[in-house]
Amino acid sequence: MNTHPLAHSPVPLSARQRRLLERYVELLLAWNRRVNLTAAASAEELYTRHLLDALSLVPIVEARLIPGRLVDVGSGAGLPGVPLAVARPAWRVTLVEATGKKVRFLRAVVAELALDNVQVRHGRAEDVAHERDHREAYDVAVARALAKLPVLLELCLPFVRVGGYVVAPKGPEPDEELRRATRALELLGGHVEEVLPVRLPQVSGTRTVILVRKVRPTPANYPRPPGRPAKRPLLPQQD
Ligand code: SAH
Repeated sequence: MNTHPLAHSPVPLSARQRRLLERYVELLLAWNRRVNLTAAASAEELYTRHLLDALSLVPIVEARLIPGRLVDVGSGAGLPGVPLAVARPAWRVTLVEATGKKVRFLRAVVAELALDNVQVRHGRAEDVAHERDHREAYDVAVARALAKLPVLLELCLPFVRVGGYVVAPKGPEPDEELRRATRALELLGGHVEEVLPVRLPQVSGTRTVILVRKVRPTPANYPRPPGRPAKRPLLPQQD
């Protein structure tokens, strides 16, 4: 008999937590037939490439700090924010997502799973990060598949308090993105603390997780207005 993919979780899960994650996968597959939420087609793929990937961030974060508040920027269908919130009910998790149909799904998940540590915020990071309740209010910002690092940093660092972290899962070769992020780091108050290789149990190849520590406050003019960070990324002079 095959073992359940969640048996490979990098963090221990109670029977209840497993049930919640299974329900999340069911909801994702059911909604995905009607509204396009994710390219992942099967439960197997959701577990191995998405849920375990999200859960792999828990020990990485906890090796540095125990977050009170964590924001998932561009959460999409809830990744990595929903698995993190299930695995760590003491973290208060905000999911920021710009697309209405995804926000409707996220609200349905939060209601159905009764996740009382999750807040869903419909909006663009460029706007939400300027609001008083969100600005430099988080210990950790995570963002998966949101944008290349210079853009991701402009959308994420403004949410994070000095001393907190941006945690960005990336592909096997993030060197080019890192090189292009030097100016964004300088302007926004970030410092690349570590680039960790991460291996997933049932997926071949190595990924990386970029850990950026917030070392100075972000100037009030960042993030720039909606669309600007992606259109005119904060790149080094020569690029
Ligand atoms: N993190 C998810 C989704 C990645 S796709 C995952 O790993 O599966 C990127 C998501 O970010 C999309 O859902 C898109 O609507 C959202 N997004 C892109 N730019 C955004 C912005 N500026 N503010 C908020 N959400 C944004």
